[in-house]
Amino acid sequence: MPELPEVETVRRGLAPVMEGGSIVRVEQRRGDLRFAFPPDFAARLAGRQIISLGRRAKYLVADLDDGMVLVSHLGMSGSFRIEADEGGSLKPGVFHHARSKDDKHDHVVFHIDGPAGRARIIYNDPRRFGYMDLMARSTLAEHPWFRSLGVEPTGNSLDAHELARRLAGKTAPLKAALLDQRIIAGLGNIYVCEAMWRAGLSPVKPAGRLVTRTGRPRRELDVLTQAIRAVIEEAIAAGGSSLRDHIRTDGTLGYFQHGFSVYDREGKACPRPGCGDTVRRIVQSGRSTFHCPRCQKS
Ligand SMILES: [Zn+2]
Repeated sequence: MPELPEVETVRRGLAPVMEGGSIVRVEQRRGDLRFAFPPDFAARLAGRQIISLGRRAKYLVADLDDGMVLVSHLGMSGSFRIEADEGGSLKPGVFHHARSKDDKHDHVVFHIDGPAGRARIIYNDPRRFGYMDLMARSTLAEHPWFRSLGVEPTGNSLDAHELARRLAGKTAPLKAALLDQRIIAGLGNIYVCEAMWRAGLSPVKPAGRLVTRTGRPRRELDVLTQAIRAVIEEAIAAGGSSLRDHIRTDGTLGYFQHGFSVYDREGKACPRPGCGDTVRRIVQSGRSTFHCPRCQKS
């Protein structure tokens, strides 16, 4: 499943083609993905201008010129790719090589006349766990998908004081608290494991122990906050470089992987210099936690 850095990479790949562009028409090839498309989906999008393409947690949020937003989620296997439209010319050297091998899973095609030229933005999703909807911008924050989302792990919104406020009194294991989307939005299993390893914190430690009695962050929470921001920022940076490669090869914007320290490395040596222990896997709330028992003791 794509995690937040992959979704941010997709956003950065689509933004130059979509922002400031017009939706000429939309080909909607089925009535549903994970959920039904809203009524008149294609007709309501036709002719609209895209003001900006943002992201909240793992949702892409395109602001349109009529006050509506197009919200999309990639689910398990969704991806977007960009192709030059008929008679169109994308900026030379930027987008190439239409991928056609899975075209039976191309479910939505957005024809865009934008700053990079005339383009088709194609949504492909073999397993169809992704979804799209249209809603008024003014109702977005209260929509069930968005209203209980916690703080973003990117940018300046996540700081140790804010996390202390959200973790105070929590007896849940740290791993579970960090995966709770009401606390931090969009942080998934991979980057939670990586951040706890980097901060040297045990995944089973009660989350509230990172907060003082007066509600202030302990030093470990400062370290953890920095670790979360760093693993996400590094993954987004890696996505940026993989993005250029993806676009050169097949025009697809989607999942990428780069090197992890503990995630999916059960039985391998802990990469912390001087540690010498091996990465273990435990199951917490039905999900694998990868950690090093020696340097994640505290
Ligand atoms: Zn270790």
